[in-house]
Amino acid sequence: RFRDVAAGWTGPAVLADGHEVSLYANVQDATGAEAAAAGPAGGIGLFRTELAFLDRPTEPSVDEQAEMYARVLGAFPNAKVVTRTLDAGSDKPLAFAGMTEEDNPALGVRGIRVDLIDRGLLDRQLDALAEAGRRTGGAHSSPWVMAPMISTVDEARDFADRCRTRGLTPGIMVEVPAVAVAVDRFLPYVDFLSIGTNDLTQYVMAADRMSSGLAALTDPWQPAVLRLIRSVARAAATVPGGRSVPVGVCGEAAADPQLACVLLGLGVSSLSVATAALPFVGAALGEVTLARCRELAALALDCDTAREARAAVMAAGA
Ligand code: PEP
Ligand code: MG
Repeated sequence: RFRDVAAGWTGPAVLADGHEVSLYANVQDATGAEAAAAGPAGGIGLFRTELAFLDRPTEPSVDEQAEMYARVLGAFPNAKVVTRTLDAGSDKPLAFAGMTEEDNPALGVRGIRVDLIDRGLLDRQLDALAEAGRRTGGAHSSPWVMAPMISTVDEARDFADRCRTRGLTPGIMVEVPAVAVAVDRFLPYVDFLSIGTNDLTQYVMAADRMSSGLAALTDPWQPAVLRLIRSVARAAATVPGGRSVPVGVCGEAAADPQLACVLLGLGVSSLSVATAALPFVGAALGEVTLARCRELAALALDCDTAREARAAVMAAGA
């Protein structure tokens, strides 16, 4: 029955109590963005720019980057598009990022750490995104952009400065436990947070996300992961000065319909998933109220293991 409901789901994402949810697509290039725009996506929550250039031996020029980013922005002229700066390294080697072989690439130079090799790479990408915003004719006057693998306040502050001088709206990924644990120290500098549950789970559980043998550990239902998400959402909801910072989830966790309900209950306000998963998540959200999501989150948080948390939420009929 649920498959039938999902098949007929065309968006937008609204809970059973009328509460609107921002449900976005994860994309990796302009074609993907255009395909998402033809469906029920409410925008783009994660544009993985590194995947667009994975096959490139040399760095694309600023103009060429701007052209691609403008197409992605242009696919959603009236909705949010969050571009992520190059997350090169580890499982996504980029030929032109100047990285060397490392014993432990997941703990090495990846994401924002590419700055340690070449700050120009990020500067040129931000220039291109600002130019792309100008090319949308005002539709995206201050494009949203986030940095992957942030782990210190210095990195976040520096990234935000480089974005703001170009008129971009800066955010950071929360995927390194150091950020989740001390998130209140990062909040003054950024306009939004996006929790990357794939890496956050990998680093919290000390379990390689690429290892199928460790799947039980790299499970975002792990109690420690759920608790961290709750504390990040709570901190972001009440930033000193009366501000609140929106928190999204763009990892695979958001594509699990039951876990999507739990994430909303934990205080997350937007979810971004693969385009193919949108109908399943959207249909599941339509069956629950926000109060119910909070009950489900409480049930999950009251468990000792990922397996028990999932079973408790399923048994509750989510
Ligand atoms: C994540 O880590 O959850 C994430 C969304 O980023 P990626 O999967 O590209 O590392
Ligand atoms: Mg990640």
